[in-house]
Amino acid sequence: MASAGDQSFASHAESPVSGASRILVVDDDVALRHSLPRILSTPGRSFDDCGSVAAAITLLSQAAYDLIILDYRLPDTNGLALLDWLASEKRDESVIVISGEDAIDAAIGALRRGADDFVRKPYHAVQLQRAVQSALHKRSLESANRAMSQRLRASERLHRYLVESSPDLIFTLDAEARFSYVNPRIEILLGFDRQSLIGLPFLALVMAEDTERIAGLLHAQQNSSSFSIELRLRRSERTHVTPSPVTVTLQGIPMINHSFGEGRYLGLYGVARDISERKRAEEIITFQAYHDQLTNLPNRVLFKDRLELAIAQAQRRGGALAVMFIDVDRFKLVNDSYGHAEGDALLRGIAARLSSTLRKGDTLARLGGDEFTALLPDIDTPEDADSIARKILDALDRPFELNHGDFRATVSIGVSIFPRDGNTAEALTQHADIAMYRVKRSGKNGFRFFAPELDTEHRERLSLENDLRVALDHNEFELHYQTQVSMSQRRVIGVEALLRWNHPENGQVAPNIFIPVAEEIGLIGELSDWVLENACAQLSRWRQSGFRDLKMSLNLAPNDFDRKDIVPNVTACIERHGLPPSQLELEITESMMMNDASRVVTKLQELRDAGVGVAIDDFGTGYSALAYLQKFPVNVLKIDRSFVSELNGRTINPIVSAIMGIAKGFNLKLIAEGVEFAEQANSLTALGCDVMQGYYFARPVGALAATGLIAQVPNMPDGNDRTWVQ
Ligand code: C2E
Ligand code: CA
Ligand code: CA
Repeated sequence: MASAGDQSFASHAESPVSGASRILVVDDDVALRHSLPRILSTPGRSFDDCGSVAAAITLLSQAAYDLIILDYRLPDTNGLALLDWLASEKRDESVIVISGEDAIDAAIGALRRGADDFVRKPYHAVQLQRAVQSALHKRSLESANRAMSQRLRASERLHRYLVESSPDLIFTLDAEARFSYVNPRIEILLGFDRQSLIGLPFLALVMAEDTERIAGLLHAQQNSSSFSIELRLRRSERTHVTPSPVTVTLQGIPMINHSFGEGRYLGLYGVARDISERKRAEEIITFQAYHDQLTNLPNRVLFKDRLELAIAQAQRRGGALAVMFIDVDRFKLVNDSYGHAEGDALLRGIAARLSSTLRKGDTLARLGGDEFTALLPDIDTPEDADSIARKILDALDRPFELNHGDFRATVSIGVSIFPRDGNTAEALTQHADIAMYRVKRSGKNGFRFFAPELDTEHRERLSLENDLRVALDHNEFELHYQTQVSMSQRRVIGVEALLRWNHPENGQVAPNIFIPVAEEIGLIGELSDWVLENACAQLSRWRQSGFRDLKMSLNLAPNDFDRKDIVPNVTACIERHGLPPSQLELEITESMMMNDASRVVTKLQELRDAGVGVAIDDFGTGYSALAYLQKFPVNVLKIDRSFVSELNGRTINPIVSAIMGIAKGFNLKLIAEGVEFAEQANSLTALGCDVMQGYYFARPVGALAATGLIAQVPNMPDGNDRTWVQ
């Protein structure tokens, strides 16, 4: 056996094996010290030994033991001293005291001082073996027990921590639905002191409107299973001046004791989670789904909802209601020229003005863009709607203050009445829309009621739109050409291309009818491209057949100048067909120059720089002819037909002479349009206008017929009709 010191070191280095035990033998009988380990040895047991209390304390100070076999009588002092030391050091070694003393006092003294067993000398080996066995067994039970309760304490601490610091409200109710436990979350969530709730009924926290439902649930819990519900809990008045309820989802799990046959209901375990935030978010989302973000007004969906409801109510009481379709006039202009921020500000301003004219039960909605609708659910006669429409128009009299300055907005209003004009939300809204549309087309800034004829017109218009959309693909367009005659040269010097739509059912549709529609529905760009392409192709063919200096005039629409690619389109087309740019003349109207003049000026200048001619069509019918003549780089004026028709060959027309003067002053060429009679041609010649166009010379005709006209000497006032030799 190794010395005490070595043994202790070795034991320190080794990790204790399960079932291993260290035993210290303290006895002054050396022979016994050596024989004991042999008697007691089993796998896993190791032994140290020493012969005095002092030596034992030294060993114990260096290492822990599971068991001390302690001789009562020792040379320095008796074994009780070691027991005292162990106690004072709070050591937990098990001790078996061995003694030759007969005295029962010794045994009692030893056991009192914490010894685990007492074996009297002389003893039988089996007796000692049993005592050691039982001491070690007891010790291992104790330590297992200790470990267990430590784990329990830790686990209890963990669970308590989890429950107490849970972000959810956790509570238990007794069988009478009174609080028996509630976690601290209640203080933050509802502001109640949690101790004060113990013993109070759970229903005391439930909002009045929910109590019946919850009471039923709690009652039913006596024999039923878990549940999950949404409810609102009352907040403490202590912490909130006007307490708003907290919405929670509550999970209830009944606590049932099954130990006595039939399960006995002990109460309820509840977990409640605050979902107020989510609720609020849901409410916001719902609001957004039914409202327009810019103005916060109801949107199309909500409007339709309310209208349907109002129709049902009106039907029940046999009453009437009105629907208004309100569209802001020329809103696009504000948006395009001042930017979207100003456009938005204007819409908000208009929304506020409109709201202010309506009554409490009315609904004003924004359908999108510059479209508003109003529902007047409570009118006695259509005249009521009439006066509200007037109020709306009046309310817009005062200009809006925008960043760019004051702006006077107007609206066009269409009105439909239930039941007269329809009995569904769709029909009423659509009819109000149709009536509004009519106001738009007849000058805007006004209102009108729906009438059945409008519907027919509207349908016609819709089918026109639909037919127009496919007309290009169906190849239904054709160009006619009207000759332009030079009186002095007695020949055709150019042609104007005029668009014709050969409608499959309605026959030829006049450009005055379909061009504005094409502009409105956004088809004009494609149409103009088609005209450009076909006119250039035709001019190229004519040039190839020898009419080298023939000019071609084309009509452009106002919207064409909104397109970025208009100039490159024109120049590319000219190049493609190998035309001299000066042979092409683009006709624009005065109205084009009024919208966003600077953009138009730039584009016109680019066209002029490219060598293309630009003519002002219908000259004299617009507003400030002189003002824009200075700004716009044009080179031709076309005198409008209305002035020409007034010429009779006898009196001098002051307007026509003024136009002549202007053309001279600005160094512009002149073409007179709509010349129908010889006298008109004569008057124009007398006034100094050389180039003319009109039925007198020729009506617009197809390309083939036009070729014949170009090749002839045109009809002349003096009646000459010779063929023009190239
Ligand atoms: P506009 O440019 O002023 O064209 C002249 C119109 O007057 C043509 O009508 C022509 O047929 C008609 N006209 C010609 N001479 C006489 C006459 O002596 N007496 C009378 N009463 N009328 C005469 P059209 O072809 O029906 O065209 C009408 C308008 O449609 C054109 O007026 C033009 O503004 C527009 N338009 C025609 N083709 C096109 C096109 O390709 N593109 C665009 N954007 N507009 C076009
Ligand atoms: Ca024209
Ligand atoms: Ca014209």
